[in-house]
Amino acid sequence: MNQPSKIAVLTSGGDAPGMNAALRAAVRTISWHKKLAYGVYRGYDGLISNDIKYLDARSVNHILGRGGTMLKSARSEGFRTKEGRQTAFDNLNAQGIDSLIVIGGDGSLTGAHLMHEEHGIPTIGIPATIDNDLMGTDESIGFDTALNTAVEAVDKIRDTAASHNRLFLVEVMGRNSGEIALATGIATGALAVMTPEEDLSVDDLIQILERGRRNKKTSNIVIVAEGYGKNGAEDLGRVIQKRTDLYETKVTVLGHIQRGGQPSVRDRLLASELGHAAVEALMNGKKDIMVGLKQSNIEHIPILEAVQSKKYLNPNYLQLVKELSI
Ligand code: ATP
Repeated sequence: MNQPSKIAVLTSGGDAPGMNAALRAAVRTISWHKKLAYGVYRGYDGLISNDIKYLDARSVNHILGRGGTMLKSARSEGFRTKEGRQTAFDNLNAQGIDSLIVIGGDGSLTGAHLMHEEHGIPTIGIPATIDNDLMGTDESIGFDTALNTAVEAVDKIRDTAASHNRLFLVEVMGRNSGEIALATGIATGALAVMTPEEDLSVDDLIQILERGRRNKKTSNIVIVAEGYGKNGAEDLGRVIQKRTDLYETKVTVLGHIQRGGQPSVRDRLLASELGHAAVEALMNGKKDIMVGLKQSNIEHIPILEAVQSKKYLNPNYLQLVKELSI
């Protein structure tokens, strides 16, 4: 087995707190093995435009606790084409880079799979997306920090909700996933959680609101995933306001604050473990896999399986929201 000697690392897709910590861990582990690390700037765009620089162990100083990504991230249309991926591979080849680590979400990892499939280069994926929608890992990097941000914001909104007879619809991120919404809902004691997966109807929500009123609940907070219905909380707010005049309805969209900020301790630990595990996997001849952490164990899962399998919301969590919000 030929061990890798020059390994490139990139961050791609939506940024997630902890990407820097994963990069640092990967670069330091590569240096530990006395191999050479290269950073690709602006995700797959940088691979196509050859924006690739050597990184030594010191070049990732002081990034562990910083949000965002030192390498910058991008969504690259060029990389979606075969020609774009050929150029990307040629650029790696020209520098003698023989392996690639991709830190990102399902789209980014799909790109890593295609690079291996089309060009035979060993690729390893590290799950980093606040959406937490990848199989093969209990959590992806950035999810815990995003949750902490969302929970802190909802706690503040609750103060106002409790002082007035208002219904607050708080929209959290998750275009296709209710993971952030569900966990935020439990952690803030929300009345209901509206997710794209469960797809509760407006009638269901009105019934829950009426039950809350009968039970003399004093504040009404509903967490809505961005991907619920056609247009998340904004649409839902308009419909509720038309259907019932029991409440003054306010909509708050938390938006990009959920992506930013210093990574939580949990994300720093996860990112450090997965950055290290990605390099170890390459050293052991693994390719076209994603590294994940399940019940404190490092797992390897084929990238295609991680991105194509449907991740279901935890049914125990769904039941918790229903039972604890009475
Ligand atoms: P997030 O979960 O935060 O949205 P992501 O990695 O899923 O992150 P995407 O925008 O889906 O974000 O993907 C990032 C980049 O990966 C795309 O801009 C594109 O360059 C590449 N990519 C995504 N899907 C594919 C695909 N099917 N084939 C080739 N490249 C892809």
